[in-house]
Amino acid sequence: MSRTKEVKYTCPYCGREFDITVYESVNSEQDPDLRDSCLSGDLFRHSCPHCHTDFMVQYPLVYADPQHKFVLWLSASTGEEAALKTAAGPLLKQGYKLRRCATIKEFTEKIQIFEDGVSDIAVELAKYDSFIEFIDNRRGNPADVTSVEYQRVNDGVMKINVRTDDKGLSFLIPMDLLEEEIRAESDRFAINEEEFPLINSDWIISLFMESSGQA
Ligand SMILES: [Zn+2]
Repeated sequence: MSRTKEVKYTCPYCGREFDITVYESVNSEQDPDLRDSCLSGDLFRHSCPHCHTDFMVQYPLVYADPQHKFVLWLSASTGEEAALKTAAGPLLKQGYKLRRCATIKEFTEKIQIFEDGVSDIAVELAKYDSFIEFIDNRRGNPADVTSVEYQRVNDGVMKINVRTDDKGLSFLIPMDLLEEEIRAESDRFAINEEEFPLINSDWIISLFMESSGQA
């Protein structure tokens, strides 16, 4: 069941206060419309009634997709997840994937990845490899990269886009190469789902930093 609450919110632009309705939980199967607005980001978009500025507001949200079997916990920080962790054991037994997402951007991308039935560990590895290749081939400086995004998997090939302000470059990476690399170093890529792990760019970078002794 999807659940909302009313909160007082102070407009970051004009400083005046108003009430907004935020979602505490969304069930994609029961509320397919809410699933759509999670994916588009509209669920988080609010407009100040005083100065009429539009902006995104992120509140902790638990998103459950029983069809594709995953639960995402959108939260910028850990804490207050005791109830969630109690539910982790039974959910894992039913084959659910459990993740925390630190940002709305991570959250929307994760929905897409899991609906596609793709491993998010493979996605982060592909994004990391694409970024390194982009830099190594001197296509640009690390500082120029504005985002590295998962696009899709087609015929066993994952497509990643590396974007800078003025261009985007696609990288095509075979899934079997990614799976082989993960299998070959299964200890390195091991995660503890009971903890609702963050599987994002910070996570993959920390793995490679640790192994090169820079942690
Ligand atoms: Zn305002």
